[in-house]
Amino acid sequence: MISPVHLWVAKKTGLERNLNPYKLAIWQRERLKAVIDYAAKNTRFYNGKIDPSMQLEDLPFTLPSDLANNPYAFLAIPQNSVTRVTTLANSGTTSLKKRIFFSQSDLERTKEFFSVGMSTMVSKGDKVQILISNRTENSLGSLLQESLSRIGVPAEISKSLRNVTEALEVSKDADCLVGMPAELLYMSRIAPEMRPKSVLLAADIAPQAIIKSIKKTWKCNVFCHYGHTEFGYGIAVNCDESDELHLRDAHNILEIIDIKTQEPALPGEVGEIVITTLWNEAMPIIRYKTGNISRLIAQPCKCGSNLHRMGNVEGRIADNIAIAKGKVLNIIQLDEILFTCNFVRGFNASVSNYRGKTALHLTIDATQRIDPTILEPVTPNEVDIDINYGAADPFTNRRKRRLSVK
Ligand SMILES: [Zn+2]
Repeated sequence: MISPVHLWVAKKTGLERNLNPYKLAIWQRERLKAVIDYAAKNTRFYNGKIDPSMQLEDLPFTLPSDLANNPYAFLAIPQNSVTRVTTLANSGTTSLKKRIFFSQSDLERTKEFFSVGMSTMVSKGDKVQILISNRTENSLGSLLQESLSRIGVPAEISKSLRNVTEALEVSKDADCLVGMPAELLYMSRIAPEMRPKSVLLAADIAPQAIIKSIKKTWKCNVFCHYGHTEFGYGIAVNCDESDELHLRDAHNILEIIDIKTQEPALPGEVGEIVITTLWNEAMPIIRYKTGNISRLIAQPCKCGSNLHRMGNVEGRIADNIAIAKGKVLNIIQLDEILFTCNFVRGFNASVSNYRGKTALHLTIDATQRIDPTILEPVTPNEVDIDINYGAADPFTNRRKRRLSVK
């Protein structure tokens, strides 16, 4: 089945059967002019910085710190027209928090995309259990629940979950589970007998080892969603024919920027994901550097879509920790190695540096001991490896996974 996201882009852009990457780019660049005009006229941040005669590649980047330093400079509508404000803890060194504003129509567009994306993995009458977010009005969970109800799919948002036992209890009758990758992997390794029809990994990076393992254990389809609160959550989701993600092209422009040259990367080349909103009313954002790493895929999808897709997210630039000269380590590298062991249910990792000696500390939740030599490809000889065994239930400390520094 061709991805519903492709059909939706064809309809929203009006390109219908003529849709191809070239025509889409022309359509997006035409739309971009209107966005630039809107942002320059209505926001303090973009006023005087950009004008509609500029090409996409010539526009300056917007940094997460710009948004954190002065969120109101991005606000393009009167404050009383803001329907939702989300405050995000900043993962950087500053204590400032990003505030993200949405209008009613911004939220409506998110729901529209969610309905389309979810129709890839659920059908009328299926029951969905949402294990992330909360029941607050217009929260990510509530928006998803409402989008699903529009396609005839009832969804329940879990109350705050304190451990894997509670997560398994609420999930036992669901056809589709929506949750964070490491949490769903942990569930699948505790309860391999469960048989959801599909699983949607969201709200954190999904390593290949987790995708493969959940597919194998639960014998189900595994989908990945990539999103950011800054753009109204949804950015991309894969179809049932491929792990690579179809893009929300009718609402955003997604670029991959070479990290060294800061120029657009070629399809297949790795770089930073940079996003421009094409319709956001409350907070238009132009060329926002997400800090996430991926690549564009130019080959047509097996589902029949000829549009560019995005590969899986391969990491976050800020999460790379220098562990030796010219050598960095991040949690995804460890996930790809440790989760390949089917007896490892979860783990926590941190790096310390004491008197010039770097050590990697692991607390591994497993039914047997790992062979430490499997870590050699990512840990140079001069790095000590300190392994402890113990519980690492991700539901007891719910967050995006990171390699912490002690
Ligand atoms: Zn596809």
